[in-house]
Amino acid sequence: QAAEHSPAVVIGTGYGAAVTALRLGSAGVPTVMLEMGRLWNTPAEDGKIFSDMLAPDRRAMWFTDRTEAPLASFLWLDIANRDIEPYAGVLDRVDYGDMSVYVGRGVGGGSLVNGAMAVTPKRWYFEQVLPEVDAEEMYGRYFPLANSMLGTNHIDEDWFETCDSYQFARVSRAAAHKAGYKTTFVPSVYDFDYMRREENGLVPRSALASEVIYGNNHGKRSLDQTYLAAAVGTGNVTIQALSEVRDIAQQQDGSYALSVRRIDELGNVLDVRQLTTEYLFLGAGSLGSTELLVRARDTGKLPNLGEAVGEGWGTNGNVMLGRANHVQDLVGPLESGMPALGIDAWEDPVNPVFAEIAPVPAGLETWASLYLAITRNPERGSFRYEPGADRAVLQWREEQGQPSIDAAKQLFDRINSVNGTSYRYDLFGDTRAFENRFTYHPLGGLVLGEATDLYGRVKGYRNLYVTDGSLIPGSTGVNPFVTITALAERNIARVLAEDVRTR
Ligand code: FAD
Repeated sequence: QAAEHSPAVVIGTGYGAAVTALRLGSAGVPTVMLEMGRLWNTPAEDGKIFSDMLAPDRRAMWFTDRTEAPLASFLWLDIANRDIEPYAGVLDRVDYGDMSVYVGRGVGGGSLVNGAMAVTPKRWYFEQVLPEVDAEEMYGRYFPLANSMLGTNHIDEDWFETCDSYQFARVSRAAAHKAGYKTTFVPSVYDFDYMRREENGLVPRSALASEVIYGNNHGKRSLDQTYLAAAVGTGNVTIQALSEVRDIAQQQDGSYALSVRRIDELGNVLDVRQLTTEYLFLGAGSLGSTELLVRARDTGKLPNLGEAVGEGWGTNGNVMLGRANHVQDLVGPLESGMPALGIDAWEDPVNPVFAEIAPVPAGLETWASLYLAITRNPERGSFRYEPGADRAVLQWREEQGQPSIDAAKQLFDRINSVNGTSYRYDLFGDTRAFENRFTYHPLGGLVLGEATDLYGRVKGYRNLYVTDGSLIPGSTGVNPFVTITALAERNIARVLAEDVRTR
């Protein structure tokens, strides 16, 4: 069977990939996108595309027989998780010993499962993290472009004060303010007008019906509705779903040959096909893109790849915790699945913390305040190729998460002592108060300026590029997708101007 050919190929369909495909398509470059997850556009028998967090089914998770929600327990009871049939579901938890990483699977990548928080990092911190990137250009041009393309919107602050959906956030805010911390509203790509109509009973509920990490049936501007729709609309971009790239090699003439494994929704392998291309863009996310290049280097298929491939990985300092509220501080049974407020202590010179006030959308009074804290954890992990498993495995020890706990503990100890409250010890499967064994924000592995040049061109190879979260060295100080999107816009503009033959 002759190999299929496409002038450009983009691996993955998350933020970096979607930006890249749109700009290639707009420039007239025929482009194929390859995505290992499925296309989420068809309702199942219940009339819905996705299942919710209260009754997750096989659509919830990627080939596992039990769901693995981040809140493992409630009052130490295993009530959050369900046995399910293995299926090409939308959320994956990739386990590497002491660290588990949650990622989206499907056309739209992480945009299908994330909390929609669209946060632009503080400029001074961005300048510290990526000092060689022109911040003037990013903040003048690419962050605004990314936010406008993503459909970022702001909550109506008057509605916030009176609605039921954010009573939980108002309770957490009062406790933070009492301890002298400031809070800030968080922009979102969930349509806040739609949410308001949900609360008023005018439209089908999604954020207000415990939908978030297993997908949203309404209200969220995920990439399939924004960048990917525009990319396909150019007429030059096609998306092949359930197609996983396994190997990348370079041919004599400098072009790339990919082997692509196609499966059905139940995981049966249909075939392994070859696809060749002149311009190859890796947008498979921090785990996916890093694994592809670590494997290619260590199996000798791309032997010029250097030592920086697989290094510089971080968790964005993620740590989750809960506080027990006073009995009279009711949060109510209705909690929006989309966070809208954060405690902003990022200016603290010793222990910067940005803590998103997270919902527990359980449909009943929980007397709990939940937080996903982002901290400045300097620890970094790296990936090693394991030939037996043909897998790149993250090297990360649990104690590397300790700086995140220390930073969060300082802030929340103070909030607890001023308010006379305590931590919740029943949420993470045992009696720990802080959960640092998972991250939602994998970053790094193919760091900008280290594994690539300053525009994502992979060192050692021509016409091979990285476009996604693996470029960012382990930390952004806020939720990362706006940064990933803006950086991808900046890089592809340069690559199109200098490298790609457009016709
Ligand atoms: P991804 O979005 O991860 O996309 C990579 C895609 O490539 C995936 O679809 C994957 O299936 C595919 N892929 C991987 N390997 C291969 C392969 N070999 N072949 C073919 N396809 C492949 N960030 C925020 O900014 N705000 C939030 O509120 C927020 N909440 C989150 C909540 C959850 C539960 C999770 C899991 C994440 C959250 N994030 C949030 C993080 C955000 O979603 C990610 O940072 C972002 O999606 C990363 O973008 P990316 O372009 O690097 O890759």
